Amino acid sequence: MPSGGDTAELSPVIIGAGPAGLTAAYQLAKAGVPSVVLEADNVVGGISRTAERNGWKFDIGGHRFFTKVKPVERLWHEILSDDDFLLRPRMSRIFYDGDFYDYPLRAVNALRNLGPIEAARCVASYGWVRIRPPADQSNFETWTAARFGWRLYGMFFKTYTEKVWGVDASEIQADWAAQRIKNLSLLSAVVNSLLPRRNQKDITSLIEEFDYPRFGPGMMWERCAELVEAKGSEVRLESPVVALHHRDGLVHTVVSEADGEQTHHDATHVVSSMPFPLLIKAMSPPAPADVLAAAAELKFRDFLTVALVVPVDDGFPDNWIYIHSPDVEVGRVQNFGQWSPDLVKDGRTCLGLEYFVNEGDHLWTMADDDLIELGKAELATLGLLDPTHVTEGYVVRMPKAYPMYDEHYAANVTTLREWIEANASNVMPVGRNGMHKYNNQDHSMYTAMLSVENILGAQHDVWSVNVEAEYHEESVVDLRAGRTANPETTAALL
Ligand SMILES: Cc1cc2nc3c(=O)[nH]c(=O)nc-3n(C[C@H](O)[C@H](O)[C@H](O)COP(=O)(O)OP(=O)(O)OC[C@H]3O[C@@H](n4cnc5c(N)ncnc54)[C@H](O)[C@@H]3O)c2cc1C
Repeated sequence: MPSGGDTAELSPVIIGAGPAGLTAAYQLAKAGVPSVVLEADNVVGGISRTAERNGWKFDIGGHRFFTKVKPVERLWHEILSDDDFLLRPRMSRIFYDGDFYDYPLRAVNALRNLGPIEAARCVASYGWVRIRPPADQSNFETWTAARFGWRLYGMFFKTYTEKVWGVDASEIQADWAAQRIKNLSLLSAVVNSLLPRRNQKDITSLIEEFDYPRFGPGMMWERCAELVEAKGSEVRLESPVVALHHRDGLVHTVVSEADGEQTHHDATHVVSSMPFPLLIKAMSPPAPADVLAAAAELKFRDFLTVALVVPVDDGFPDNWIYIHSPDVEVGRVQNFGQWSPDLVKDGRTCLGLEYFVNEGDHLWTMADDDLIELGKAELATLGLLDPTHVTEGYVVRMPKAYPMYDEHYAANVTTLREWIEANASNVMPVGRNGMHKYNNQDHSMYTAMLSVENILGAQHDVWSVNVEAEYHEESVVDLRAGRTANPETTAALL
């Protein structure tokens, strides 16, 4: 396997044209190494695409462009010009029990909504958990309750978390919570809220403005694909990788399929952002049974958006609202007009109702028209919309939006990783599903950047990205003076 020396001998194949795959192709192209990018779908951008229906543009979720990783920040601004970015004001609230709670929670607003009796109960519940902490804090439920008290946990953590993951919160591993909540507790949150105002850019939850490409995140990846192709690389859409042939510890051929025809691509290196378990399943000769069993155990959560077009006055000032009510299945509602005026048109806006689902379940298989009716009915139930005002509706399904952190995922990932390192050491898993890691765009891209450096001779430990790095995502607490604990850690679910 050539590396470091003569780049002319390199023929890397990249699987997936999402942020990680296209970043790899872009960095390779900059180093003078053309590559082939094989993408299963008919658009680029992966989960960070911009979907478009009848001129309405929307994200899968909503993608804020914020990072502490400087090389990633530079790359974003290399790919798009400053004029392509909008600096957007950020606003989001939690809708719970008929009231809007500021997100992150502010003491005055929370107290007003909860009322003094409920607020006192929350404090008492926190006091109790300090005296009697749960003995086993290895799962999301006990870990979070130990830090915020059972009452706040029940109000602001449990329902939303269970909507997102579709399982009891006690089945989610604490390391997922720990990645987001860090060492915070109600006490440290209150103490912090008394500290002087800090530089808000230090903590993402405090960011009140964020960058956003004016036509959505897909704009970044469409442009990136153009730049990559202009430098002699190839981005092949609708070309899923179906097999990787390996021998003597290396993959030598990647097989893609298009229109029923298979194409064999010789590869010195493979950068793979396809779901890690599916990569293992595509190996030929096959991985041993125990490795395939570990792959089969890695699970994902899927996602669908019901986009409803409404008059602009029916929108709300937030970029998104978290829906905590257990009476409805919708988990979050985006107002895409608040992300960019270029996503919407004609004096109307587009509300994106987010449902966390499993491929094949009742929502996933529901007809689009029925989903649109469900979305309208749920917003009406919540009192957030008059359904007769909806003029158009669309549905976008996104499989494998969230790699699942269940009880065995870490051990299963290790099994896959060890097998790859021993049997296909020129394959570099990158990105979010590629590593079965809860990476955002920036960390997905960063793993690709480091992998390219490895192809060129460096020896980075790509798996340590996001474990070592201070995680920048949303904190549950607004540390500014006058603000207090935000128990909505699950709001950090991107
Ligand atoms: C609801 C939601 C909101 C989010 N919000 C944000 C945010 O605000 N900010 C942020 O930075 N990040 C956000 N993210 C995360 C971001 O979307 C991901 O981190 C990013 O898209 C991961 O990039 P990736 O290239 O690793 O994977 P993906 O985006 O999943 O791309 C992988 C690509 O591989 C392709 N592929 C799969 N299998 C094959 C195959 N067999 N052959 C060929 N191609 C294949 C897929 O079609 C896909 O195009 C959010 C995610 C979700 C779900």
